[in-house]
Amino acid sequence: MAIVIQGNLLAKKIREKLKEKCIELKQKGITPKLAVIMVGDNPASKIYVKNKNKACQEIGIEYEEYLLDEKIKQEELIELIEKLNNKEDINGILLQSPIPVHLDINEAFRTINYKKDVDGFNPINVGKLVLEQETFVSCTPFGVIKMLEEYNIDLEGKNVVILGRSNIVGKPLIQCCLNKNATVTVCHSKTVDIEEYTKKADILIVAIGKSKFVTKEMVKKGAVVIDVGINRNEDGKISGDVDYEEVEKVASYITPVPGGVGPMTVAMLMNNVIKATKLQANI
Ligand code: NAP
Repeated sequence: MAIVIQGNLLAKKIREKLKEKCIELKQKGITPKLAVIMVGDNPASKIYVKNKNKACQEIGIEYEEYLLDEKIKQEELIELIEKLNNKEDINGILLQSPIPVHLDINEAFRTINYKKDVDGFNPINVGKLVLEQETFVSCTPFGVIKMLEEYNIDLEGKNVVILGRSNIVGKPLIQCCLNKNATVTVCHSKTVDIEEYTKKADILIVAIGKSKFVTKEMVKKGAVVIDVGINRNEDGKISGDVDYEEVEKVASYITPVPGGVGPMTVAMLMNNVIKATKLQANI
């Protein structure tokens, strides 16, 4: 049976350390502040935003929420981001995705000042990740890497196979793993015979949004399996992209859903807000 990677516990430990850092900042007269922009009424986004607010409260980070009508014009969204860029008391800006399709999310991410880009989606920060320079790594890939580090799972020389190539998860993960000297393969919806690749993975990271897609037969014995997927089933229950009950019988390590990558994502966001605050204060 696989060792369960306890994302919840790990995230709690990280939040406790961040709380201490926040107290130190406050002793210097600095209070970190995160601004979150949400456009429209996406139910999943509402839950994510609520969790981010809760984590901020726990750590002592001030939190400001901007809920915009789903019919908002691009210019209005850009205007708000520019206003937040110029507000000195705001240290981090997050635009919750998805946003309605009539809006240009790339322009929005580009507009967020890269020094306040705690989600790591501004092309400057993406480029810095590629060049292995100090940057804000987007929170989910960062959380995955942190989990592996905490469980002493070394990536060097390992065959890492990533399912999914989205801009927010898959692509930054490719770079994060490459920066750790892994040999990285990425599969997507056009990959022919995915199983051929997954079976060779020492570390399999799945981020495709298809409930229980990865079965036991697709996993090499002893592989580490990281499940990023969050799927809401018809009965309201949440499941991952991995058939957990079956795959845990062959994997050496596995992340549960919920309680795996999800809480780590929020913890890494908090980490990035504290980091942004320190950078902006030159400390
Ligand atoms: P996304 O933007 O929809 O991208 C999905 C990716 O999976 C695409 O690259 C797509 O390929 C690929 N894909 C879809 N079906 C596939 C299939 N049958 N075989 C192989 N590849 C397939 O999704 P995302 O934003 O990356 O999110 C992925 C999952 O992670 C979702 O369940 C999401 O809710 C979850 N998520 C979790 C967290 C967290 O904190 N735990 C954070 C973000 C996202 P193409 O590029 O070819 O279309």
